[in-house]
Amino acid sequence: MKHYSIAIDGPSGAGKSTIAKMVARHLNFIYVDTGAMYRALALYFLRNNISVADKEAIENACNYADVMIDYKDGEQQVILNGENVNSLIRTEEVGNMASASSVYPVVRLKLVELQRSMAKKADVVMDGREIGTFVLPEADLKIYLTASSKERARRRFIELKERGISADINEIEKDIIERDMRDMNREFAPLKQADDAILVDSSHMTVDEVKNTIIKYFEEIIQNSSKELG
Ligand code: C5P
Repeated sequence: MKHYSIAIDGPSGAGKSTIAKMVARHLNFIYVDTGAMYRALALYFLRNNISVADKEAIENACNYADVMIDYKDGEQQVILNGENVNSLIRTEEVGNMASASSVYPVVRLKLVELQRSMAKKADVVMDGREIGTFVLPEADLKIYLTASSKERARRRFIELKERGISADINEIEKDIIERDMRDMNREFAPLKQADDAILVDSSHMTVDEVKNTIIKYFEEIIQNSSKELG
């Protein structure tokens, strides 16, 4: 049976997970948050005091960290060595470690295998950095979702404020630019727009506008493929 896949790639803070979740819910697809998988491995490295500069230790640790995905009430749950770590992976510390450790091919390949196997079993909306270019190069629809670094910093600032966390918006932007650089310049599977991806710049769009744009593109693809089938 054919399973559909929608790949949503883009830099940190572009709104990928919010949008991907909404699109998945609308289409009744499974949402696969690949960033959460990198974060779970990062948590393992942090808990075991593994320095991100120590390539050998990272490679070795990958043999002992088992990441699995489960769904509870439609929400993705990340299981690290049998423990649900969903509530522990959203900190800046874990995010920074995920960004730094995801440059290692051994880290990436471990998770890419899991991501591909999920797309084989279900209709998925998968978000990440290289889903369209590397993980699912045959995805039915590829979106490159971005926004200016200023706008992404502004959104993150508001989100933190709502959670009662004070932050410096300039520091957030600096951090975002640093992560972009790392994601775009790593040697293995860097962040870039796939040749056949559609660019969506959400800087001046509402969440609903972005969601509806993506759904419209997907519906066009479905219509065209049913026309081709006659
Ligand atoms: O998307 P999120 O911020 O949760 O991802 C955490 C980090 O994991 C990112 O900064 C990025 O470096 C890395 N990542 C990646 N490839 C993916 C998803 C996330 O390199 N497909």
